[in-house]
Amino acid sequence: MSISLYVHFPFCTNKCHYCDFYKEVHDKPTEAKFYQFLAVELELAIEKISDRTISTIFIGGGTPSLTNLDLFEKFIQQVKQNFTLAPNLEFSLECNPESINLEVLSRLKEIGVTRPTYGLQSFNEKTLKVLGRDHNVHQSQQAIYFTNALGYKTYGVDLIFGVPNQSSKMFSYDVEQLIDLDPPHISFYQLIFEKNTELYERYLNKQIFPLNDDLILAMYKSGCEKFKNAGYVRYEICSFAKPYHECRHNISYWDGSDYLGLGSSAHSFIDNVRFYNSSSLSDYFTALNKRELPRKIDESGIEERIAEAIMLGLRTEWGVNKKKFFKRFEKDVLKYLDENQVERLQQSGHLIVDDEKIKLTDEGFFVIDEVIRLLVK
Ligand code: SF4
Repeated sequence: MSISLYVHFPFCTNKCHYCDFYKEVHDKPTEAKFYQFLAVELELAIEKISDRTISTIFIGGGTPSLTNLDLFEKFIQQVKQNFTLAPNLEFSLECNPESINLEVLSRLKEIGVTRPTYGLQSFNEKTLKVLGRDHNVHQSQQAIYFTNALGYKTYGVDLIFGVPNQSSKMFSYDVEQLIDLDPPHISFYQLIFEKNTELYERYLNKQIFPLNDDLILAMYKSGCEKFKNAGYVRYEICSFAKPYHECRHNISYWDGSDYLGLGSSAHSFIDNVRFYNSSSLSDYFTALNKRELPRKIDESGIEERIAEAIMLGLRTEWGVNKKKFFKRFEKDVLKYLDENQVERLQQSGHLIVDDEKIKLTDEGFFVIDEVIRLLVK
C-alpha cells in the first residue's frame, strides 16, 4: 500500500506581506535542532507504516530551499532506510528564487528531488514589492533557466493575481511572461487578505484596497483562457499542467489517500484517522525531546469529512466520483447535496451529474464558492 510524505520546513528569512503560514526566522542552530528532532519524529511515526511504499514526497514551508543540504540529505537517507520509494517517485521541494543557484539545484537533484516548485508570484517589481517578496524578476528567470539547464524533467511555478494596484495590463504581462517560460505546471492563485498579515493591517488602515470582484473574476477567466491556449489543462481550480505534469502529491490529498506529515504544523491522514502536529516549534521540540509524537488527533466527525471530500472533489476537473465516494464513506454522495439545487444548477449550466460523477462546468468553476454554498447541505 502506498503513502505520501509531507515535510514542513518551518523557516523563512523573509515575511511576505500576505502570508499566514507557520514559519520561524531562519537561523542555523535552530535548523540543526529541527533536523535532530525530525529524525526522532520519523523514527516514532513509522511504527505500523514502514511497510508502505512512498509514492510522493513534498517538502513545503516556509522556504525549504534555504535548507542546509547536508542535514537534508541525511534526513532523506533516513527516509530511504525506512521505506521503499516508488520507482516513479515524485519528489517536490518548494523554492524561493533568491535562495536558489546552480549549485543548490544540482545538489537537490543528486539528493533525489525530481520537481522543484517556485514561488515566482509576479514578473512586475512593483507587485513583488506589494507582496513583500524578497526576490526580483531576474532571479525568477534565472531559477527557471538553471532548472532547465540541469535537466529537471518537471517543475512548477506559482503566480498570484488580484494584487492591490495590479492593472489588467500588469496582469496580462505576468501571464504572458509565465507562458513564455513554458513551465510544465502552474499554480494560479487569487491573493487573499488573510488576518494577522501585514497586507490585512494595511487594508484595515486604508493604505491599500482589494481589487473589485468583477476584475478578479475577469483575471481568472483570462488566465484560464491563456493557459488553455498555451496547452495547459486545468485539473483543479488553481492548478494547470501540461499533460503528465499534474502534481500527484496534491491529487493524493484531494482523493483521500493516506499521507504522513512531519515537522511542526504538518497534518497527517492515515487509516482514516487525521492528526496534526503542534504549530509551535518549541512545543514540537519539547514533545520529541520526551520521545513523544507532537500530534493531536483531529476530532472532526464523519459529516465534516464528507463535506470536505465533496468540496475538494468539486474543485477538480474530474469532480466527485460516485463509486469512489461510496467505497470511501459507504454513503451515497447525492444524499449530502441539496436536491433542488442539484436540479437548478444543472439547468443553469453550472453542474453536470451523470451515472459516474458530479462535476462543475466552466461556468460553475467561475462561481465555485457560491455553487458549493448552495449545493452542500
Ligand atoms: S516565503 Fe513562503 S512561507 Fe515564507 S513568508 Fe513568504 S509566502 Fe510565507
